[in-house]
Amino acid sequence: MTTIAANLQKVQNRIVTACTLAGRDPASVRLLAVSKTFAPAAVRAAHAAGQCAFGENYLQEGVAKIEALADLRGQLEWHCIGPLQSNKTRLVAEHFDWVHSVDRLKIAQRLSDQRPAHLAALQVCLQVNVDGGANKSGVAPQEAVQLAQAVAGLPGLRLRGLMAIPEPAPDFIAQRALFMGAAAVFDQIRAAGVMLDTLSAGMSGDLEAAIAAGSTMVRVGTAIFGAR
Ligand SMILES: *Cc1c(COP(=O)(O)O)cnc(C)c1O
Repeated sequence: MTTIAANLQKVQNRIVTACTLAGRDPASVRLLAVSKTFAPAAVRAAHAAGQCAFGENYLQEGVAKIEALADLRGQLEWHCIGPLQSNKTRLVAEHFDWVHSVDRLKIAQRLSDQRPAHLAALQVCLQVNVDGGANKSGVAPQEAVQLAQAVAGLPGLRLRGLMAIPEPAPDFIAQRALFMGAAAVFDQIRAAGVMLDTLSAGMSGDLEAAIAAGSTMVRVGTAIFGAR
């Protein structure tokens, strides 16, 4: 077994254990393998071990990798999870299946307008700033319902949920509390009548706390591919 295959198995085991402790069905949590900074060969190795969904942060790098792996395009699902500038939205709209980092309406409108007609709608999560840190990207929790309602109406997009990247906290309880803040915003948006099914939360170091708070998609890089 390659190291990547063995690491994937370990991460899957962590997901199952975390779900069991939380009284959740392990099938309710998807694994997104974050392949940023790793070569296409690493993605091939993960795919050979059964992994299909991959996340990229840096657009140029991500698009180059998608193109290098064009032979697998129908079998891979590509997620853009990095910060978005409005002059880069076209690359996302034309190459990716999902984007997790939409934090304002202008970006969403551009993605919708630029999504090629021959592709399925771009699957979208809104990034929510659960810490309230002024320098962090993400929509403020109190503005999230309004943004979700607007994005849900855009024809080139399909709103799926929220992404949260809280600061590391000192322990499990504190980390879970931050993720529960994201879960509360998720519930608020659903209570306002907007359909959501995805809470993108949790990374290599904190996926257990995220799953305890209701995450449905963990984004894991280091624990699969190694240190960057
Ligand atoms: C890099 C990154 C990850 C993966 O982080 P690891 O700690 O390596 O698992 C997840 N989400 C986002 C947004 C990232 O930038």
